[in-house]
Amino acid sequence: MPVFEKVLIANRGEIALRIHRACREMGIKTVAVHSTADADAMHVRLADESVCIGPPPARDSYLNIPAIVSAAAVTGADAIHPGVGFLSENAAFAEIVEAHGIVFIGPSPDHIQAMGDKITAKRTMTELGVPCVPGSDGAVASIEQARAEAERIGYPILVKAAAGGGGRGMKVAEGPENLEEAFLMARREAAAAFGNDAVYMERYLSRPRHIEIQIAADNHGSVVHFGERDCSVQRRHQKVVEEAPSPALNAEERERIGRRAVQAIAGMGYRSLGTLEFLYENGEFFFIEMNTRLQVEHPITEAITGIDLVRLQIQIASGAPLGLEQKDISFTGHAIECRITAEDPVTFQPRPGRVENYHVPGGLGVRVDSALYAGYPVPPHYDSLIAKLVVHGATRNECLLRLRRSLDEFVIEGLPTTIPLHQRLMADPSFLNGDYHIRWLERDFLGS
Ligand code: ADP
Repeated sequence: MPVFEKVLIANRGEIALRIHRACREMGIKTVAVHSTADADAMHVRLADESVCIGPPPARDSYLNIPAIVSAAAVTGADAIHPGVGFLSENAAFAEIVEAHGIVFIGPSPDHIQAMGDKITAKRTMTELGVPCVPGSDGAVASIEQARAEAERIGYPILVKAAAGGGGRGMKVAEGPENLEEAFLMARREAAAAFGNDAVYMERYLSRPRHIEIQIAADNHGSVVHFGERDCSVQRRHQKVVEEAPSPALNAEERERIGRRAVQAIAGMGYRSLGTLEFLYENGEFFFIEMNTRLQVEHPITEAITGIDLVRLQIQIASGAPLGLEQKDISFTGHAIECRITAEDPVTFQPRPGRVENYHVPGGLGVRVDSALYAGYPVPPHYDSLIAKLVVHGATRNECLLRLRRSLDEFVIEGLPTTIPLHQRLMADPSFLNGDYHIRWLERDFLGS
């Protein structure tokens, strides 16, 4: 008997397809929901059933809670997978879904709420013994308070939105002379993007790496971690390339941060998949935030552990035990993911269009997660991510060589993509040496 009979996938694009694939392998029927712009999308074609939930703008379709819950009720879905982005970290959505007797494939609304507010998240983690980036004690409400806190923390300072996400609502003040501007701009951006202008402050670390720990916890008190992902290759605080394991960590550090993460998750009584994000500098880890959902970059962890994380997430949501102990999780080889977007590879302007010709690379250790096909018109309304190329090799070097030849094989014609950027990256000596940090791509590689 499958753990659920029918799962509604409240998302689109490659991640909707990823979830569909896990469901299909588990014997679970799928319901795709889609906007009018996505009527011909791959996940809609492959799902057992589909329901149109509104016009193209996300607020009218993929963020339209009444339409999605009605679609689940009408089709008799017994669970909803929210995917990533959209409603995946919306506590109210999780609560409404459960109030309708439908299982939300994710953590409890309380945990989504607590971790969605980064101030509460940092406070919670501090109480659980996890070191955080030094910063203000909670929200900063006035410029006077911001000045006083900044003197205490030390410049440069980063003003961050409590409700932030996707790298938005974050402004740097190099010194006291631009603190007011950073504070007001972060507040304004936060209010516009998240409808919540609460901001807090952190020391702006100069050359850290972004290291995140994947965890899973069940309803029965078991918690495990799946090691780290290094997501330091970023543009505008958004990940571009990720790798696992990190070329910067040694076994002792990996063990130490993994254990810390597991202890914190157990202390919270958390259930589901989750990711603790840290900045790592000079051998120290500083917590910045927790994501209470599946991550875009989860396939690199799947590649080095051989574990299907989406399947695990669905099993946990059904109430099943993890069926895994820490000693069952071992790491084999090296994996790298390139996020390929429908953007100009030089200016990064989104350039949606029709895919005229499409050919994916293959062979040992090569995985492409994408909802593209020849003839598919990439709609202009959504995120520009169109494909994830995930490559696994026995060693980092083998992985890099395989990635290079896979990028050379990849054909996406009809619209510009960032494949040429990734080709240049995979030939760069600093990247090849694993010698990079969160500002390396923008500052040194792109030189902006
Ligand atoms: P979001 O939720 O918008 O993704 P995060 O808090 O996860 O925001 O931060 C995103 C990225 O911003 C990090 O990966 C890092 O590159 C940068 N960042 C965040 N906090 C700091 C900090 N205190 N110092 C330096 N860089 C930071």
